[in-house]
Amino acid sequence: MYIRQEDKPREECGIAGICGQAEAANLVYLMLYALQHRGQEGAGIITSNELGFNAVRGTGLVADVFDENKLATLFGSVAIGHVRYSTTGPSTEKNAQPLMVEYSRGNLALAHNGNLVNAEKIRNTLVQEGSIFQTSADSEVLIHLLARSREKEFLEALSTSLLQMEGAYSVLLMNDDTLIAIRDPYGFRPLALGKVGEAYVVASETCAFDLVGAEYVRDVEPGEILLINKKGLRSHRFAPKPKRQAHCIFEYIYFSRPDSLIFGHSCWEARRRLGRMLAQENENPADIVIPVPDSGVCTAIGFSQEADIPFEMALIRNHYIGRTFIEPSQSIRDFGVKLKFNVVKEAVKGKRVIVIDDSLVRGTTARKIIKMIRQAGAKEIHMRLSSPPVKYPCFYGMDFPTRKELIAATHSQEEIAKYLRVDSVAYLSHEGMLKAMVEDENNFCCACFNGDYPVDFNERHEKSAREIVSKEMDQQRIS
Ligand code: SF4
Repeated sequence: MYIRQEDKPREECGIAGICGQAEAANLVYLMLYALQHRGQEGAGIITSNELGFNAVRGTGLVADVFDENKLATLFGSVAIGHVRYSTTGPSTEKNAQPLMVEYSRGNLALAHNGNLVNAEKIRNTLVQEGSIFQTSADSEVLIHLLARSREKEFLEALSTSLLQMEGAYSVLLMNDDTLIAIRDPYGFRPLALGKVGEAYVVASETCAFDLVGAEYVRDVEPGEILLINKKGLRSHRFAPKPKRQAHCIFEYIYFSRPDSLIFGHSCWEARRRLGRMLAQENENPADIVIPVPDSGVCTAIGFSQEADIPFEMALIRNHYIGRTFIEPSQSIRDFGVKLKFNVVKEAVKGKRVIVIDDSLVRGTTARKIIKMIRQAGAKEIHMRLSSPPVKYPCFYGMDFPTRKELIAATHSQEEIAKYLRVDSVAYLSHEGMLKAMVEDENNFCCACFNGDYPVDFNERHEKSAREIVSKEMDQQRIS
């Protein structure tokens, strides 16, 4: 049995690229380390030099895929890389990105973060017309659209291809000498531009820049294609600005690293403000505040400061389990969560404890953590969540379970408290969440909280869509 933290939406992908650096592969390799939290199922780097492309891709963590010898094969001053969590397609070596093809315009490599809602429709049409797909990754459709385009100029071909794609995509492309960064018109996923020396770098999060000594320049704009080569930087807008943007608010709440700038703003500050807001909105009868590490830490600090309740690191997380720990015996119950977290008994014994987490998805892990805190001697346990109830699935690249598995979609707050076995549970309100953000509230996608999906989904998601649109509440109850 594999150990997974079932209570969390799992991370999507991370991408990084560089142009104009003799050590391109080494720098992308380091940037992928910084982005490892965004995907642990596969990693890859492709470089370009005058002899063509060089690729190393595989399944597992960055440390599993690369070693000194493999990195030494990656010649060239342009490189793109990818860490993968498979929201579409199985996690096989074949699906590891960046993807790479040779077509009428030369070599092309692609790394993608996000999820296309119309990929299946495009794919079916292309297959019927004779296209042969190499992978099950939804982003492969862009390569086919580009290869089939009748436009003479590459930029025109790329723009018309992108206009056929719907959904969330931050993409890095690389041809023989150019790094190309693209963000969908709604800007669901982050993508930042930086500079190290004379070279430009692009990455999902700016924590990757810090590792290689790059300075943040700006975000790749939604609807923008950035072409970067020896001649410098060229910007092209391929789609008009939509009436609203749809930055994924969950990037601030949970997915991104707190040391990153996300959509141009500090994730660390956003989390502290979420914590402060959460403290303001609720009664907080407690002696100590403890975070569920790591994502709850910044929020709990903000909460503790606002509520004037001491912060304690009473839950200790083991970071060294890896992805493939095998449970030695089926008879050892809750072993997985115990392996990942332990409680400092001296910190909680006899205390009224507030436990801060960012979100509740299924509730299964939280329930086990609460049990451990109770067994360690806590007098009262109050759960506080720095986001509103997650009631709807995500179709834009985050791997949430179906609606009937989302505990807040099928249970009242009282039922959730009973299931978790806590003395109280409270969520941050939707208004409070938006108030904690610096950006305008119209800039965000909040669909997993309110069901207001910025981009329509079709076919592949029809079943789920019907499920959402219908107001029938699932009667399933956790016994
Ligand atoms: S539905 Fe939720 S997780 Fe998905 S993009 Fe929107 S805010 Fe992010």
